[in-house]
Amino acid sequence: MATEGVDKSLNLEKRDALIESIAKRLGVSAERGKRFAELTSLRVGGAIDWVIQPHTEEQAAAVIYELDKADIAWRALGSGSNVLADDEEHHYVVLSTQDLKGTVSFEGALVNVSAGYSLPRLCIDVWREGLSGIEGLGGIPGTVGGALWMNAGAYEHEIGTVTETVRVAREGRVVNIPGSSVKWDYRHTSFRDGELLLGARLRLKPDDPVKIKERMDEAKARRMATQPHGSRSAGCFFKNPPGSKLGTGKMIDNMGMKGTRRGGALVSPIHANFIVTEGENARAEDALRLAEEIRERVRNEHGIELEYEVELWRADSRVVKSSESLESEESLESSESVESSRGFEELGGLGEARNSQDSPNSPNSLNSQNSPNSLKGEK
Ligand SMILES: Cc1cc2nc3c(=O)[nH]c(=O)nc-3n(C[C@H](O)[C@H](O)[C@H](O)COP(=O)(O)OP(=O)(O)OC[C@H]3O[C@@H](n4cnc5c(N)ncnc54)[C@H](O)[C@@H]3O)c2cc1C
Repeated sequence: MATEGVDKSLNLEKRDALIESIAKRLGVSAERGKRFAELTSLRVGGAIDWVIQPHTEEQAAAVIYELDKADIAWRALGSGSNVLADDEEHHYVVLSTQDLKGTVSFEGALVNVSAGYSLPRLCIDVWREGLSGIEGLGGIPGTVGGALWMNAGAYEHEIGTVTETVRVAREGRVVNIPGSSVKWDYRHTSFRDGELLLGARLRLKPDDPVKIKERMDEAKARRMATQPHGSRSAGCFFKNPPGSKLGTGKMIDNMGMKGTRRGGALVSPIHANFIVTEGENARAEDALRLAEEIRERVRNEHGIELEYEVELWRADSRVVKSSESLESEESLESSESVESSRGFEELGGLGEARNSQDSPNSPNSLNSQNSPNSLKGEK
């Protein structure tokens, strides 16, 4: 954790200088003054110390390697369509994949794509190529990286079932791991906090583009009929309780909570498992307060503890770093292959030991499946 008062500001000054020097050496943009309200679909959330936006997978791998080496906490963010960040100041680096788009390439039924590529765009690209397997995902906002992270899915399709390999950042390199070595659960995967996903190769099935388009349109129509569109949301806020006959949306609806408003947040009148925000003054706290109220009522009236599907990012929680995640992921090591060598050998000192877990600058994370407040999303 960062130290308080004068020491903290001194530490932050030192950290800031390091970030500037890393970004300059690697040729990536590093910006200050951004807020989560600009980077997430709920349009709420506080200030972020730094946003770094690499353009290539190699650059991204090198950036987080350098940040880890310097003991600087970071977090990956795609389109921010599954994240609710609180209103406080977030003292860590957001590694945004928005510029990590690359180009989509096809090799028969294999599709190669980078983590920052738009998932809806990819669905259109593969339909035009006459490839089937992800048409149900067409209406899910976000990036390929975000979809891989939580095994996004809808209408009988999940990204994990078609993922042949995933490219991840390891020790400053782009490394290929087989999709079969990842546990793809219902809106949940075995990727660890601190793991940066860089891209994937998907294996799809050739099919008639007309039929694929029909299925895409059908999924879109179902989505439009049942979910709010054009609103500021993060999709379903809570998971469906396992084993319950009643879906979470129906449960909240039956409690008469549709349209309930707290500050700038309200339960969508269209789909009760969507919390939407409205107006310039909406705050993350409003959405959280409303969410906690829903959880309390469901607990009291149904005896069910609703789990968040949206990821809650607290400014004061600890961010797990990739070095920690690697320590607990030895099982994957045997199946890895290094795809490209470290792109930035000129950096010097790259072989040095990683930082310990007791980082002086590590804020906290709530998105770990290992963390007590595990909030990794499930639809
Ligand atoms: C209107 C609406 C409808 C939705 N419907 C669905 C649906 O039907 N099905 C569904 O599954 N989801 C749905 N979602 C949720 C959301 O769109 C998905 O979870 C999406 O995959 C998130 O992608 P993202 O790029 O926005 O990720 P973000 O919100 O930016 O990030 C989500 C998580 O993924 C991690 N992450 C992102 N990129 C990377 C990376 N490259 N490496 C490592 N970690 C990364 C982040 O750290 C964070 O923990 C919906 C959301 C909205 C707003």
